Amino acid sequence: MNVFELDRSLILDYERFARSFTQIRAADIREQVEEVYQSNRFWPEPLISINPRFERGAAVEQLVSAGTLNPATADIFSINGKPLSLYRHQSQAIAKASTKQSFVVTTGTGSGKSLCFFIPIIDAAIRARAAGDSARTRAIVIYPMNALANSQREEIDKFIKQSGLPEHLRPTFARYTGQESADERERIRHAKPDILLTNFMMLELLMARQNELDRAVVANANGLEFLVLDELHTYRGRQGADVAMLVRRVRDRLCPNHQPVCIGTSATMATEGDDEQRATAIAAVASCLFGTSISTDAVIGESLERATASTLKSRQLGGTLVTAINEDLPAKLDDEALRRHPLAVWCELEIGLLDAQKLSRRAPVTLAAAAHELANHTGCDKARCESQLQAFLMLASRPARERGGDGDRAFLAFKLHRFISGAGHVYVTLRKSGERRVTLDGQKFDPQDRETRLYPTFFCRNCGQEHHPVVLTTEHGAHYVLPRDIDETPLDDPNTTERPGYLAPEPDKDDEFIFKDNLEDFPEDWIEVARGGSLRLRRERKASAPELLIVDHTGKIGTSSRRAWFLPGKFRFCPACKYQPPGQAREINKLAALSEEGRSSATTLLVSSAIHWMNAHPSSLPPRSRKLLGFTDNRQDAALQAGHFNDFLFVALLSVRPKTF
Ligand SMILES: [Zn+2]
Repeated sequence: MNVFELDRSLILDYERFARSFTQIRAADIREQVEEVYQSNRFWPEPLISINPRFERGAAVEQLVSAGTLNPATADIFSINGKPLSLYRHQSQAIAKASTKQSFVVTTGTGSGKSLCFFIPIIDAAIRARAAGDSARTRAIVIYPMNALANSQREEIDKFIKQSGLPEHLRPTFARYTGQESADERERIRHAKPDILLTNFMMLELLMARQNELDRAVVANANGLEFLVLDELHTYRGRQGADVAMLVRRVRDRLCPNHQPVCIGTSATMATEGDDEQRATAIAAVASCLFGTSISTDAVIGESLERATASTLKSRQLGGTLVTAINEDLPAKLDDEALRRHPLAVWCELEIGLLDAQKLSRRAPVTLAAAAHELANHTGCDKARCESQLQAFLMLASRPARERGGDGDRAFLAFKLHRFISGAGHVYVTLRKSGERRVTLDGQKFDPQDRETRLYPTFFCRNCGQEHHPVVLTTEHGAHYVLPRDIDETPLDDPNTTERPGYLAPEPDKDDEFIFKDNLEDFPEDWIEVARGGSLRLRRERKASAPELLIVDHTGKIGTSSRRAWFLPGKFRFCPACKYQPPGQAREINKLAALSEEGRSSATTLLVSSAIHWMNAHPSSLPPRSRKLLGFTDNRQDAALQAGHFNDFLFVALLSVRPKTF
């Protein structure tokens, strides 16, 4: 699978979709908007970051020999009979927990943060069971999302099942998130599991509800030893305050006389400043949430190590790097060859890691920026650098067995970060056609012509005529037409001298522009037959009839030859084509902005485009890997998308499949 190709295909589909909503009648506006699209402003190049490797720490068996962990814990945290080897941050976490200190783990995704609390919790449960302690809930793990609780429950279940430990030593756990049946809840109440996986809303309910079952489940946790907040960074603002209060109530109720070990995990919580400043910020937030003092040295960060040989430096590669850029890459490069490959060293140190006093992650960069840097560094052709970097990243990120080695680990895995947003609004000046400036940045005046006002611009959904939401006003005796926000409903206040409405500049050369202020230029339902049989404008429509204004570039009325039609009040019809939007529609929906896609339709489009791409490339991606995971921060949105995926995407899949045969 070529992720760069997928990215290009997504953006092409998205651009086609996003631009399909709006047509623009005026050639000068159309051309300038086209230029903006061509400049890649809306969908700039994606950013690349290389997944770093984490420094190794003590192996589980070493911690057993040192007495930090119970031997039975090593039986649980094993794969194929071999105890796990841990990352440095995981061993640090276990050391903290073994001395009953609270801590926060703040390391990147895929760094095994959950083992930082599950290993010490399970170890404590095993020790208690071995000592003949009675069953009770020793740890409560609070997740921000049920999906996390579900996936970690499965993970822990696998570890415990393969341990071969006798029943009485096996730690027990239960999910209590509100997804359980009444029977299951009853079972949990009597089983008194060692570990309870829940979410903060459910815990809140458990604490507050007075029925016998809930009270019993909470009472099982009397003497609580561990309190875990997973994904600490999600608890901000009012929700953060709620969770902080909940944690205090839980502690008061379940362990009033002793301090539980409080553990937080967080992927990204502070980005400003150096390590020390970040740790201080994280410690402050965690102390606030847990209601206990968590010091800076209890913030466990990530320790990174190099994938390539640590003796090789990117600036000392010399001619070998130039050769690696100019020669075609071999089809296969195993880990050993990559450890010393000049491009691997360069990519790891110039895109992935900053090699200062300690290794840290670099900020993500575009492929073009990386190629520019490589070309500067070597004097090689920039286009060649770009294509070679792309090819190299693709190769080094493949599983080892596809590169002539063993196993499915990538040598340098990377992420492509693609941000997609709508095109937003257009602002146009009132100068003559062809001299008008078009900008997409909301501001009052043309930045290159400070006297000339910019007007927000919307387009007729039928013919693409531009319309500016405006207000007619008087300043120092002069009349002006000034821009206004389209969402401000036009007021019909008789006491104000301001008149809101829309301004439709008359095109210079456009024979199809209908409105000349003749009776037949109005929509049919604006006209009635008078007593004498002649036609006339309906009386109640008169106040809404377009008025001809002469305006200049500052918005002043009556001083220039620029003709424009002022449409008083709500938008009722387009003078260019007579199109009437539904009267009850919101003003913003009567006309088209540059981008019309909502978040839901954008998501559906991107998902269907990705699925289509995956299935149109059957050879490069095995069918079992054609998966797509979506996240949303909004429940209503998730519910809506679920519906979309059920019918719309299923239909799309059905229609795509035949093409793959
Ligand atoms: Zn129109």
